[in-house]
Amino acid sequence: MTNNIYLVANWKMYGGPSNLKSLNKVINLRKLKKYRKANIIYFPPFTLISNLVSKFKKTNISVGGQNCHYQENYGSFTGSISPKMLKDLGCKYVILGHSENRILGDTDEIINKKIQSALNKKLKIIFCIGETLSEKKSKLTFSVLKRQINKGLKRIKNFQKIIIAYEPVWSIGTGIIPKNKELETNVGKIRNIFSKKTKKKMLILYGGSVNSKNISILKNISGIDGFLIGSASQNSKKFIDIIKKTIN
Ligand code: PEP
Repeated sequence: MTNNIYLVANWKMYGGPSNLKSLNKVINLRKLKKYRKANIIYFPPFTLISNLVSKFKKTNISVGGQNCHYQENYGSFTGSISPKMLKDLGCKYVILGHSENRILGDTDEIINKKIQSALNKKLKIIFCIGETLSEKKSKLTFSVLKRQINKGLKRIKNFQKIIIAYEPVWSIGTGIIPKNKELETNVGKIRNIFSKKTKKKMLILYGGSVNSKNISILKNISGIDGFLIGSASQNSKKFIDIIKKTIN
């Protein structure tokens, strides 16, 4: 682990008003000196963004949207949310390229347009990349990561506004995590791809079945800057456990 630690909570399509009270415990933990170095970002469903933004108002905990449309401002896109709308709600971040949205039709080209628009609206991006199980078995991991990065970030220059989340698709929601060696190798490959694009050291997170048990193994991986946590972040007690074990 590096020192600038990110702990990112992706609530996916879970959560309602009853989930808000327990966030006080996360706020209180974050106030303790030891945990102040943790960059905590919550990605609730759109319906709870306003609630979380006001709850975290005087804290250093940020809020983001789980996806957005590529249209920057407004448009006739029923059911969609634009970067402007997220920004107006108080979001600082947006997750783009998540595999659960790639399978619903988000191509590299669409993701690229979304990233461009979100950056134009001064949102920071959590850009998810990762190979499927069959791609891994066919030894295509490197070429998939390279394609996702090159196409997803085509013409993008402000790399300092982008955080990479390496999420092997076969690890998301399955309880299976990569071996440390495999993870270090793949993160190294991602860094290599970026070394040809920017002098800046990219922030790279790992995501996929992170929980309060395997975090003790995962935190030993060199070169990663934190974790994107799905299921285990939806319960404040489990999320706090992860924060405490990551930062000690
Ligand atoms: C995710 O939503 O990106 C994720 C990693 O989910 P989970 O932690 O549940 O595997």
